[in-house]
Amino acid sequence: MNLAAPSHIANYIAGELQAPINGKYMPNTNPATGEVYSQTPDSDIDDVEEAVGAARAAFPLWSTTPAEERFKILNRIAQLIDDNLDALALAETNDNGKPLSLSKRVDIPRASSNFRFFATGIMHFSTESHNMEDKAINYTLRQPVGVVGCISPWNLPLYLFTWKIAPALASGNCVVAKPSEVTPMTAYLLSIICRKAGLPPGVLNIVHGTGPGCGSAIVTHPGIKAISFTGSTRAGKEIASTAAPMFKKISLELGGKNPNIIFADCDWDKMMNTTIMSSFSNQGQICLCGSRILVEDKIYEKFKHEFIARTKKLTVGDPLEDTSKQGAVVSQLHFDKVLSCIELAKQEGGTILAGGQALKMSGRCENGLFIEPTIIEGLGPHCRTNMEEIFGPVVTIQPFSTEEEALQLANTSDYGLSATIWTQDISRANRVAGKVHSGIIWVNCWLLRDLRTPFGGFKNSGVGREGGWDALRFFTEPKNVCIEL
Ligand code: NAD
Repeated sequence: MNLAAPSHIANYIAGELQAPINGKYMPNTNPATGEVYSQTPDSDIDDVEEAVGAARAAFPLWSTTPAEERFKILNRIAQLIDDNLDALALAETNDNGKPLSLSKRVDIPRASSNFRFFATGIMHFSTESHNMEDKAINYTLRQPVGVVGCISPWNLPLYLFTWKIAPALASGNCVVAKPSEVTPMTAYLLSIICRKAGLPPGVLNIVHGTGPGCGSAIVTHPGIKAISFTGSTRAGKEIASTAAPMFKKISLELGGKNPNIIFADCDWDKMMNTTIMSSFSNQGQICLCGSRILVEDKIYEKFKHEFIARTKKLTVGDPLEDTSKQGAVVSQLHFDKVLSCIELAKQEGGTILAGGQALKMSGRCENGLFIEPTIIEGLGPHCRTNMEEIFGPVVTIQPFSTEEEALQLANTSDYGLSATIWTQDISRANRVAGKVHSGIIWVNCWLLRDLRTPFGGFKNSGVGREGGWDALRFFTEPKNVCIEL
């Protein structure tokens, strides 16, 4: 199978690879080199219309295909992702700027896990039955929703794309999906894999384009009955305001401003190693990164000095080099945004303890978009730097003196996606976990995922939960059947 990057990416509609109907393309740029290395379809409503038509046509057969058959096809897709790990990881790195080693170790293996997990999940998925003593038996029939839309962001391109598509397909829906226009290549390669795996035409349709031009055509299409969206809170709000009056099911996984709460009794080495990762992995462009580090005052100075020293040692460089711990940020637009957030932090009175600058590389990456991992101190909880999502290699550190104060700081945010707690005191860990307003809490670890658990955030971080049975429930409609005895 040829999984090389083409000069022109194609849409995948009705099982065919095809050019956008309007003939328009957008440049696809490698952010580590500045090179335009392919062209992405700038699809619009006409391509979405065709994709919805193909999905509708495929639905009667796919929705009645036995679960075991769907399992086999999705499992084949998972295997082909594994077999093509190197090509997919390289495509993702070239699109996104992340270190190739990260893509190989995390993103691509997790994409195949998504397919494998939901392929097997659908074999075990069951529904409830309620017995009204000798009067009646009720049972819940769960049926696929129909044609559903899946829209994903650029930070974990294939992983988040497959996190939505896999449960939708496993539960018998047909899908119209749009990856981020900033990182389209792995989604294109997935279409080649799906053809090879024998996924019937029209069951999955991948349309490339912008949010306003193509994403909104998916959201507004009356034939699409549910939308699973991951991306910014701004776009999530727009999608909710369009989809809600059309009574579509929506699942919104949005931004975060996650607290990392460090108590003095933590396992120091483990906390320090993990905090470096939870702050700067993927250049801080993971929705679950801890961007507000709250440290008990007894250990604040010790933490600060070691954290600065460790951060300064992170090698920023060519994502293809194994020695690079930090790659490029994803786009010029995002690069400018992150640097402007650092300027804002200074204007708000913050002190830059490490980083704070763009980095100029030489050689292959001389035109790349690199930013030093940055630590900011001296800002209160209500300033914009501590309230707004930056989504880059930038964290703030703040001291606290009591558990109550830690909770108050942690919860002073309009977001509520995830939180990390570091303490050896099991009672305190449970107390704080219960009181932090976040959908995902890690105690003495970070980013450990059991795909069966509910995934999602509180407040402006979104509505709905993905993962495990929650995802299979989202993509099926419950119908109660009551039989009088
Ligand atoms: P984005 O909202 O700009 O774009 C996400 C996707 O939505 C893209 O495919 C885009 O083309 C599309 N889109 C944009 N506007 C749209 C509209 N009006 N209608 C339909 N589609 C539209 O987000 P991004 O910059 O790609 O990603 C970064 C954001 O994603 C951050 O806020 C991050 O926190 C969030 N994120 C959240 C999670 C989570 O699980 N909660 C995971 C990863 C990323």
